[in-house]
Amino acid sequence: MNELIPTTLTADDIKQKARSLGADLVGIADGAIMDQYPPDPDNPRGPSDITEIDGGRVIVLAKRISFATSRLPAWNDQHKFYGDELLISALEELALDLVFWLEDNGVPGLLVPYHHVDPTKFLKGKDTQTTHPLSATHAAVEAGLGTLGLNHQLITPEYGPRVILGIVMTSADIAPDQKMEKTLCLGPECGRCLKACPADAVQHWDRDWKSCDTYRSPFGFEFVADYLTGVMTETDQKKQIGMLRSMESSELFQAMLRGSGIITGCRRCADVCPVGDDYEELLKKWVDEIAEETPEKIARLAEMVDAELPKSYQNQKRWIGDLG
Ligand code: SF4
Ligand code: SF4
Repeated sequence: MNELIPTTLTADDIKQKARSLGADLVGIADGAIMDQYPPDPDNPRGPSDITEIDGGRVIVLAKRISFATSRLPAWNDQHKFYGDELLISALEELALDLVFWLEDNGVPGLLVPYHHVDPTKFLKGKDTQTTHPLSATHAAVEAGLGTLGLNHQLITPEYGPRVILGIVMTSADIAPDQKMEKTLCLGPECGRCLKACPADAVQHWDRDWKSCDTYRSPFGFEFVADYLTGVMTETDQKKQIGMLRSMESSELFQAMLRGSGIITGCRRCADVCPVGDDYEELLKKWVDEIAEETPEKIARLAEMVDAELPKSYQNQKRWIGDLG
């Protein structure tokens, strides 16, 4: 069982340290509460599933993404991919520095990887949603950083959904934060995430994760496995060599070199979300118009406004918050 270790460090000390290392937002969740409320009861992933010793507190770190990359309108612009990839590396270093600082102060710290690929989840015909060892977005809600939106993206008051998250677990006996009760999302009346989604994956308080994955991780494990299978089973050697020298191969080479397009990818829904202190001044003018908007999408949103709240809302109500 996760037992808390007495420490002279306070939650404020830890938050101050994380900010001095470069975090823009920091919150602390109660690991026991996260164990009690797994986001997906069919695939429960709580702190105790990672460690039974040091998951009593979950420190959630966030760095804002560059607003200039949000102004780039193409979902698959390599500058976005690279920018986000570098940000993930920066967050990992920040988290590692925090781990060693905690341990220098006598309490353990365990870094939880941002991304984890379980190849068994990528078998054709099965659920291909990329699952993380611990849902960082749900942890962020439990740590009081924000609430989930119409498509279950994390929204923060400061930067809307435009943050990348990192997690450090610890058994330091520090006070956890409280989660927000009222939703920050403006609901289907806004629906800008749905209008902008190139995969049309945004649903009524839900997301078609399988469709989304092909955009948010365009050169991820499934793409690599499929592509290499195609190369290996091609019987025409000329065609096979052509496949090795193709654009797809080049994209894969770059993705493996820098990770971009594997862990990072589409985030159009985050770029256009009007919530966040950064939106009006730094983004609105550049992202107001949504090229992906269609009459069908607008009609679907209008139906959602009048419809009853779906089961997907009830299942995630704890993290979406009260619609008031
Ligand atoms: S990440 Fe891209 S594909 Fe996925 S829901 Fe957002 S806009 Fe749609
Ligand atoms: S774009 Fe609008 S509907 Fe979508 S998450 Fe943001 S506030 Fe909610």
